[in-house]
Amino acid sequence: MHNSKTILITGSNRGIGFEIARQLGKHHHVILSGRDEVKLQHAQKDLAKENIETEILLLDVSNPDSITRAAKEFGKTHKELHVLINNAGIGIRGDTSLLRNSEDILNQTLQTNSYGPLRVTKAFMPYITSPGRVIMISSGGGSMSDETGGWWPAYCVSKTLLNSITRQLAYELEPKNISVNAICPGWVRTDMGGLSATRSVHKGAETPVWLADEAPQNLTGKFFRDKKVIPW
Ligand code: NAP
Repeated sequence: MHNSKTILITGSNRGIGFEIARQLGKHHHVILSGRDEVKLQHAQKDLAKENIETEILLLDVSNPDSITRAAKEFGKTHKELHVLINNAGIGIRGDTSLLRNSEDILNQTLQTNSYGPLRVTKAFMPYITSPGRVIMISSGGGSMSDETGGWWPAYCVSKTLLNSITRQLAYELEPKNISVNAICPGWVRTDMGGLSATRSVHKGAETPVWLADEAPQNLTGKFFRDKKVIPW
């Protein structure tokens, strides 16, 4: 039997975030969030067809004002957030070279993929319970030990920064018994991953779902793929 938790997932109107919501929503109270209210309502309706009741919260992770507003809105009806899943992320088509990219590409990517999760975690900190869990959806592209190069360099830099933020937050939040971990979902068939990707969304959601629920609370400051610790 699962104790029902309140779980907020950023960027959960489609892709891996939506699938995480689908799997966790069967036993927990999930809050879908995203930057487009209509898309969120569609996602909510799709889950309702499977008898999964969710709430929606408008939250653009690249916009600090939107994050502040969303945390305030959340606080009107909730006192506790047991799990925060920072899933929203972007890869920009023109992201081909750090030397030739416009600075805007790096800036936009960092705002969404790195500063976004940090700002969202900070804004929701008053509600995150002890014990509590924060999960960052990162990428093998951010690894400092895998082979480097060949695709989306600004994206890879943003995920390396996200990994570093994960480790620092894990250290800071250990005394409060809030675990903070990063995961790589593998190459997943979503709008971002494309049709040739090797994994289903179900498989991509597996490790974050496990970390949100069944993983031991004392696992923190780690990077996971397929429920196993991998090198940073
Ligand atoms: P996706 O299908 O492109 O979905 C991305 C989600 O993030 C969408 O719901 C999107 O909302 C949302 N989003 C983007 N920018 C946002 C913002 N500023 N504020 C709020 N929501 C925003 O991507 P995915 O494949 O599911 O990726 C989910 C996570 O997994 C990302 O962090 C990604 O980097 C990571 N990842 C994916 C793969 C893969 O192979 N797919 C591999 C490694 C890591 P809109 O509909 O409004 O755009």
